[in-house]
Amino acid sequence: MTTLFIADLHLDDSRPQITRLFEDYLASDDVRRANALYILGDLVEAWIGDDDDAELPARIAAATRGLSARGVPVHFMRGNRDFLLGPAFAERAGMHLIADDAVVHDIEGTPTLLMHGDTLCTDDTVYQQVRAQVRTPEWQAQVLASPLEARRALASQSRAESRDHTGSTAETIMDVNQDAVETTMHEAGVTRLVHGHTHRPAIHDFTLRGQPAQRIVLGDWYEQGSVLRVDADGVDLRGLPLAD
Ligand code: MN
Repeated sequence: MTTLFIADLHLDDSRPQITRLFEDYLASDDVRRANALYILGDLVEAWIGDDDDAELPARIAAATRGLSARGVPVHFMRGNRDFLLGPAFAERAGMHLIADDAVVHDIEGTPTLLMHGDTLCTDDTVYQQVRAQVRTPEWQAQVLASPLEARRALASQSRAESRDHTGSTAETIMDVNQDAVETTMHEAGVTRLVHGHTHRPAIHDFTLRGQPAQRIVLGDWYEQGSVLRVDADGVDLRGLPLAD
């Protein structure tokens, strides 16, 4: 059997071809035959609340619900773009919410730590300060109490601020910190970590306190898709081209 992982799709009305790729992929035999699908955050470019009445959330829910109805569990972890996604939407979408830092004890035989990945970017102190602020229950309650239109405006403002920050911050600062990776994996008791967020797809083999260890980074879905397949034979990280 195969377990599949995706992250950082950043679905948005500005990239309709990627939304179609996501829908087609979830309806493909490859996914329908899988053991499970894990979505490790940033499924959408911006999530303004489960009460969003736009078309995109409804299409996402239809796609994931269709897959789970066929018996393939869909697990969803929030990223920094969709941390406001809650149990109401998850239920509508047939998705099972999982916590960031979840250890799944048997992913095709290997205990695996799953993360979105942003908390590993400890060198980016500006980002971590913003993150701490927007993750407080008070901030979230205040945002969710405002009208949808106000939340749409706030979302586009924070995307613009994020672009400014990304454009003016060194690449190394925005990548994961290796000490943070090793401490987190050691404390979780795993030698395999799967995460997204950095948009730097790769399989990093390294030594973790004397043991062979692996950190797998999922790619984004800007120009094409990116999928990690894990089965008894090992791991396979590959791009998912757009259909012509
Ligand atoms: Mn992210």
